[in-house]
Amino acid sequence: MARYTGPSCKLCRREGVKLYLKGDRCTSGKCPIPATREGRNEVVHAPGQHGAARKKLTEYGTQMREKQKAKRYYGVLERQFLNYYKKADNQDGITGENLLRLLERRLDNVVFRMGLAASHKEARQLVLHGHFTLNGHKANIPSILVKVGDVIAVKETNSPKIKALVEGLADVRAPKWLEIDKNGSAKVIAMPERDDIDFEINEQLIIELYSK
Ligand code: SF4
Repeated sequence: MARYTGPSCKLCRREGVKLYLKGDRCTSGKCPIPATREGRNEVVHAPGQHGAARKKLTEYGTQMREKQKAKRYYGVLERQFLNYYKKADNQDGITGENLLRLLERRLDNVVFRMGLAASHKEARQLVLHGHFTLNGHKANIPSILVKVGDVIAVKETNSPKIKALVEGLADVRAPKWLEIDKNGSAKVIAMPERDDIDFEINEQLIIELYSK
C-alpha cells in the first residue's frame, strides 16, 4: 500500500497545526510549531519559498485544508480517504461522524489509542511488522476495521521495545470505547463516538467538500 514518505513537519506547517506525526519530538521544544502558535495559520508559515505569503483561504480552500488535515493525521492517502467518505455516506446517521468513526476503527489507530505508539506512523509500522493479533489471529494490515467485541493483543515477543510498551499500558488513558488490559490487549467495548475524538477537526467541512 502506498504511503507518504516525505518530511512530516512539512505537513504540519502546511496545515498550520500540530498533527503529532513524529511521536515524542512533537511535544518537545524541537517541534517547529510551538503549542502557543498552533492553529494560527497567519503565524505558522506554510513550507516553501512563498509560504510566508499565505493568503486568506476561500471556502473551497478551507474545506480542502480540513480534508488534508484529517488525511494526514490518520496517515491515509487520497483514494482510501475518498472510499471512507463513500462508505460513511452510505451508512445511517451523520456522515461526518461516520467518517471519523471509520478512521478511528482502523487497527493502526487502535494501536495508537492504546498508547503503544507515539504516532500513527509508528503504530502502522508496528502493525505491519506483525506485532499484533486480532481475536487471536495474526493481524498485520493497518487498515483493518475493528468492531465491537474484537480483542487486539500484542503478540508474545522477546523484543525489549515491545515489552517496555506493554509495561507502560498500565498508565495509558485510552478512550472509553477501548477496555485496556495491562497484560497487552484491548477490547473494543463500543463504537467510537464523536466526543471520543480529541483531534481538532471540523468534519462537516470535509463532507461539504465531497458533496459538491
Ligand atoms: Fe513535526 Fe510533530 Fe511538530 Fe508536526 S507536531 S511539526 S510532526 S514535530
